[in-house]
Amino acid sequence: MSELAENLNALRARMARAEVAADRVPGSVRLLAVSKTQPAEAVRAAHAAGQVAFGENYVQEGVDKIAALADLPLEWHFIGPLQSNKTREVAGRFHWMHSLEREKIARRLDEQRPAGLPPLQVCIQVNIDDEASKAGCAPADLPGLVRTVLALPRLELRGLMCIPRPGNTAAFADLAKTRQDLLASIPGLSPERFDTLSMGMSDDLEAAIAAGSTLVRVGTAIFGARARPAPG
Ligand SMILES: *Cc1c(COP(=O)(O)O)cnc(C)c1O
Repeated sequence: MSELAENLNALRARMARAEVAADRVPGSVRLLAVSKTQPAEAVRAAHAAGQVAFGENYVQEGVDKIAALADLPLEWHFIGPLQSNKTREVAGRFHWMHSLEREKIARRLDEQRPAGLPPLQVCIQVNIDDEASKAGCAPADLPGLVRTVLALPRLELRGLMCIPRPGNTAAFADLAKTRQDLLASIPGLSPERFDTLSMGMSDDLEAAIAAGSTLVRVGTAIFGARARPAPG
């Protein structure tokens, strides 16, 4: 078996242990393989080992990889910071967008989502624990952004995403509570469709699964250390 297939098997076993430890159904948490900085051939090998969903942080790198792998039935998730001049590529090529943080980007993605495709599946990134960083929607602005996205027909609001400071695993429970608060206060949000908590990475996925993560985003534990620094 290839090293990559071994890594994937070990990771799936690790996730299953975390699910059982948290009294959750084994196999119920989705695995998003974060393939940023990895060549298309590594994605092809991961697909051969049974992985279907892949996450990319950089628009051009993602678009190139999607084109190179168009012969495979893959599901592509955009998980990085997105500037307004790059929204068209994300709206046109990706199935999911996890890092929505402001209304202007939401409106552009809605306008630019091609009519022949199903709605773009969207999570709002929440700045759950770090006011010093600019990434993510501030919790105070979240209800307004949720209402905006709910009104946009070409976007389907699926949940929340966070990237806490390293070691701050308490943030995962905060994000889960934030989802519950939104479900209780915003008519039109349904628990069946607003069902995603995108949280947990290679180093902290056990804590995220214990707090209710439904999708972990994992790069290093599958592909190994990233060989080159991420571009721009
Ligand atoms: C790189 C990245 C990951 C994966 O991180 P690893 O520590 O390599 O598992 C997850 N989410 C986002 C948003 C990332 O940029």
